[in-house]
Amino acid sequence: MALRLYNTMSARVEEFHPLVDNEVRMYACGPTVYDYGHIGNFRTFIAVDLLQRFLRQSGYKVRYVMNITDVDDKIIRNAARDGVSVQQYTAKYEKAFREDGAMIGIEEPVLVHATEFIPQMAEFVLKLVENDIAYRTEDGSYYFRIAKFPEYGKLSKKDFGGMLDGARVDIDEYDKDSARDFALWKAPKPDEASWDTVIGPGRPGWHLECSVMSMQKLGESFDLHAGGEDLIFPHHENEIAQSESLTGKPFAHFWFHARFLLVEGEKMSKSLGNFFTLRDLVLKGHKPSSIRYLLASVPYRNQLNFTFDGLKQAAVSVERLRNFSSRLTAGNFSAGASKEMQTLASETVDRMRAALEDDLNTAQAQGAIFEMVRSANAAFDTGEIKKDDVAPLLAALGKFDEIFAVLNDDDGPKMKQVFDWAQTEGRDTDVSENLRDTIQSSQLSDLDIEGKIDAMKRARTARDFKASDAIRTELTAAGIIIEQTKDGIRWRRK
Ligand code: AMP
Ligand code: ZN
Repeated sequence: MALRLYNTMSARVEEFHPLVDNEVRMYACGPTVYDYGHIGNFRTFIAVDLLQRFLRQSGYKVRYVMNITDVDDKIIRNAARDGVSVQQYTAKYEKAFREDGAMIGIEEPVLVHATEFIPQMAEFVLKLVENDIAYRTEDGSYYFRIAKFPEYGKLSKKDFGGMLDGARVDIDEYDKDSARDFALWKAPKPDEASWDTVIGPGRPGWHLECSVMSMQKLGESFDLHAGGEDLIFPHHENEIAQSESLTGKPFAHFWFHARFLLVEGEKMSKSLGNFFTLRDLVLKGHKPSSIRYLLASVPYRNQLNFTFDGLKQAAVSVERLRNFSSRLTAGNFSAGASKEMQTLASETVDRMRAALEDDLNTAQAQGAIFEMVRSANAAFDTGEIKKDDVAPLLAALGKFDEIFAVLNDDDGPKMKQVFDWAQTEGRDTDVSENLRDTIQSSQLSDLDIEGKIDAMKRARTARDFKASDAIRTELTAAGIIIEQTKDGIRWRRK
């Protein structure tokens, strides 16, 4: 079977095949680097990360480009407010964006900066003007002539019949249900960054940036263009209008949009106090792996309602997967293979693939791995897992992790980075007790902990309960949870 994806353009689920050979060329609208990224942004970026990981797993070569918008109204305003240059200002938040992406296991796309492509953007406008698709206004700005693109509205399914009236809009984000000639290029204003180009001085509009950069990096027609659902109109509609009216070719073949995330059932907003950056969550003591798991758990076209209960649940799920993996790697098994376990492993791989091929049904893929873990854990307890079953079970887990990327336990060091950042940013008071505990526990290596647990066991055997209790207290204080199970003492980090 092939991957089936919803295409906003056709408003249908379609089979996905690359336009040329075995290579997928895809573009996602990236962040405007004027602040730290919030969990809504990362919901969308994780959805695209899952997609590109699954395409690779399916055997495609993937060329994945994302833009960094490093010049826009908000950036210019904030840089002026902080008394720093636009470059200094954006460098800080771009670094944060890349660190945050790495923290939640996003494989970094090829990143391109708007400010690196200014001459190409001006050239693009020039060609539009030559074709009478764009025009210059008195102040030196350039606008796209909507009336020249009768298909305007085809992505957002808005019918603008008869409304293509030449009224103009120069803000980048507008959500009116009307067609407006939009700004391609903005004339310079005092104290604003501007560039001297073949069409005169000024700076590009946001929509133009994405058209030019995607075509520069991926060609005039490429496979897939992604973003959050808020970008369908006007941003993507405008990208299509600019690009297709110039090239006469279809711009992107597939349009992939992630549904907006809610927090505890409400739209995330600063005034409601339910606005969270990734770093806010880590400061509260939540692990990056739990955040990734939760953001990946709801298929991208369904509304993800982010809740703290859900986040705790995600932490438990990740823990179970990690425990299962270490149980398999550390266990002693009798020789041979069991037919049931072999079938279980191969069916799980098939089920995960079928789920992801079905418009990236991540919830079902997670469900499949958990059914495997449940059955295999039960088989473990009754000795039904044999030596030769370990590899296929681990391989199924590995396939899962190629997409979900939560098995490797590197939460401790990542949380330590956020902790250190909080110190340098003067946000020490936002560091929760939970985070402090976790940092403490991650100071101890696995080997240190094993050593202490051995010492605890020896003290118990020698009936020196005072000594064994002291070690236990020390470990608990360092955030290590110790459990007595039928396999002996097990430990995990908080
Ligand atoms: P921005 O930096 O605001 O341009 O947004 C970067 C990306 O995050 C875009 O693809 C947006 O569509 C997406 N985005 C913003 N808010 C949310 C949200 N609440 N849920 C999902 N995606 C979002
Ligand atoms: Zn864009």
